[in-house]
Amino acid sequence: MIKLFALLLLFSYNIEKQRVKIYIQEHKQVYQITDMDISIEHLKEGYAESHLSEKEIQKLKDAGFQVEILPEETYPKADYHDYAGMVAKIDSIVNDYPSIATKFSIGTTQQGRNIWVLKISDNVDTDEDEPEVRFIGIIHGDEPVGCELLLYLADTLTKQYGSDPYLTSLVNNREIFLIPMYNADGRENSSRYLADGEDPNRDFPVPDGSPHGSVSGISQETQELMDWLDTMNIVLSVTYHGGARIVNYQWDYTDEIPPYYELIRRISIGYAIRNDSMFLDPDPSYADSGTIRGYEWYQVLGSLQDWAYHQTGCIDLTIELNSTKWPSSSELPEIWRQNRDAMLWFIEQSGHGVWGHVTDANTGNPVPCTYYVLPETTKVFKNDSIVGDFHRPLLTGDYTFVFMADGYNTRTISGVHVRYDSTTYLDVQMYPLVAVNISGTVTDSAGLPIDSARVEIIGVAATYTDQNGGYNIGANAGELYFVVSKTGYATLYDTIVVQRDTTIDFVLRTLNQYDFPTTDTVDIPDNDPNGIYDSLFVDGHLNIEDIEVYVNITHTYISDLIVRLISPSGTGVYLHNETGGSNENIIGWYDSELPVDGPGTLADFQGEDAYGWWRLFVSDNASWDTGTLNGWTLRIYTPDNYTGFSKPDMIGGIDLDRAVSPNVALLLVPEKGHYNVKVVDVAGRSMRILNNALLSTGEHTVNLDNIRVPGVYYLVVEGCGRMFKKRFVVVR
Ligand SMILES: [Zn+2]
Repeated sequence: MIKLFALLLLFSYNIEKQRVKIYIQEHKQVYQITDMDISIEHLKEGYAESHLSEKEIQKLKDAGFQVEILPEETYPKADYHDYAGMVAKIDSIVNDYPSIATKFSIGTTQQGRNIWVLKISDNVDTDEDEPEVRFIGIIHGDEPVGCELLLYLADTLTKQYGSDPYLTSLVNNREIFLIPMYNADGRENSSRYLADGEDPNRDFPVPDGSPHGSVSGISQETQELMDWLDTMNIVLSVTYHGGARIVNYQWDYTDEIPPYYELIRRISIGYAIRNDSMFLDPDPSYADSGTIRGYEWYQVLGSLQDWAYHQTGCIDLTIELNSTKWPSSSELPEIWRQNRDAMLWFIEQSGHGVWGHVTDANTGNPVPCTYYVLPETTKVFKNDSIVGDFHRPLLTGDYTFVFMADGYNTRTISGVHVRYDSTTYLDVQMYPLVAVNISGTVTDSAGLPIDSARVEIIGVAATYTDQNGGYNIGANAGELYFVVSKTGYATLYDTIVVQRDTTIDFVLRTLNQYDFPTTDTVDIPDNDPNGIYDSLFVDGHLNIEDIEVYVNITHTYISDLIVRLISPSGTGVYLHNETGGSNENIIGWYDSELPVDGPGTLADFQGEDAYGWWRLFVSDNASWDTGTLNGWTLRIYTPDNYTGFSKPDMIGGIDLDRAVSPNVALLLVPEKGHYNVKVVDVAGRSMRILNNALLSTGEHTVNLDNIRVPGVYYLVVEGCGRMFKKRFVVVR
């Protein structure tokens, strides 16, 4: 009775809808069509194809589209596997290779056919710690080439297992799920659709909840596939189609860029580039290296790839295999040749990136969890809840993973280096939520107690030590991030795994304070945003815990001024930013006496190595009032001991006053332009070093090796309306 009803629906559906060609002149017209709630089935150069009701055809015509009724297609079915042939084929594979091939059904079609999955893997009946990869052959019943490819693939993997090392490794280390004929009813009826007339690739929930599909609700096959995929942990998947030759990726439903867009595009190109016809001769020809973002081609609401990525985190691709949906079977070996390497690479790629395993730190048992990978917080993935494994392809880089599980502390793992084309293994131990008490002392390096030191566990609690240096703090067991600090000491950061009540003692290193002064006197050019740079060299490797800077500027109107401090690492902080109104002079210590205006604060320098050239930029940005930089001093607080590292083998050509035996002059160019650089001796004889050289803003070095006679010299730099002269001494 149910079957009869379904057949009746199919019958009435075919009467109602006709195959049509909708002519388009410009690509943007495809969005006008989909905006009218008309689903495009194939997009060709110059026209779109669909199946439409009289009413829909009229709607298009009213909107000015030329619509042509087409006859239904006929297909050369000989030598293709029909449903019975497909079942017989996978049965013979399972029969011949029972240790690496098995089949199971995820449900039945509306007309009662089993939807078979052929699984290929070693230990094929066990869910192992291996990445899962899935292929669907036929989703549109009249696009059958994918089924043939999956049968070729199954043959190749099983027959050459044990003899071909690469194929053997894929079978041993991946779980490969093939659904050769998902829409078996459509295939048997030579129809694109499910038996109820629904387009199977317009029937899935749209990520933003938009309505979809031509039949209300979710069809039986769609629900069965979603239920199965929800229990799986598939990393990468492909659904094959016909009627074009291109890899199509997320999103179909919106023009917005999907999370991990660059990764998805890279994997898509990875498939296409291994398929010479798809990469070199794609259809449509305006493809991006054989690929296209779904919406950029045409909008589809309710596609499998959108649902699968949104719901399960699986990077699911829609791959159009061939411009002719149902080519002569004699072309199949060539289409298999085109796709073979791409399919094998795709299986391999599902295990690249991170291969992780999440377990309970105490028992070692798998822990079901969810996780995300910073900086992308919008996409949350899950691991395999039974085995505990997870697999995440990523572009090469350093990532932070955050794992969450019921009954466990959230676990953050930073600095995980991941490569796109190889595997990083990651063992994640989760700590159960158990209350623990942590106590201990904070002392200095001589063992003397430090009172009022702050002991903080990030995200948990903070406390202060008593006069004996003792502290006591509660937390949940797990990996805890301690920060222990006290003015005058180097702040201590430590990550400690705490599983029970524990004593932890901390030793804080006393901070040393070192001053680096310069007494250069430099006039500040009036009303010139290019300003001046003055440099200062710190000749010791000192880790900056804290920093202060003393500035001495005499000026008659300080809101004309910008003062900016730039570290050797290139960090820049605006000490003074045209504030202070009509006040005179900036003299004092930032930030203990003078507030830092920003952008930036002196804390921005924390953790940097102080070694190298520091620069102070000063500019006067209004006319009339003028002033002078009379010197400045860096005060560095560091746990390191200053011993002096080495004399720099260069002099600051423009503004460093330091007599050394020079090999190299350092030029700090305030403005891009043409410069002359020369060296003049005390007798006035000059040697040209650079003649009318175009120099960009910033540091440049000039070789002074040719100056061999010991004595006093001047380095003279001229250009851009400026002249700089510096005295230096050569001692060879
Ligand atoms: Zn299709």
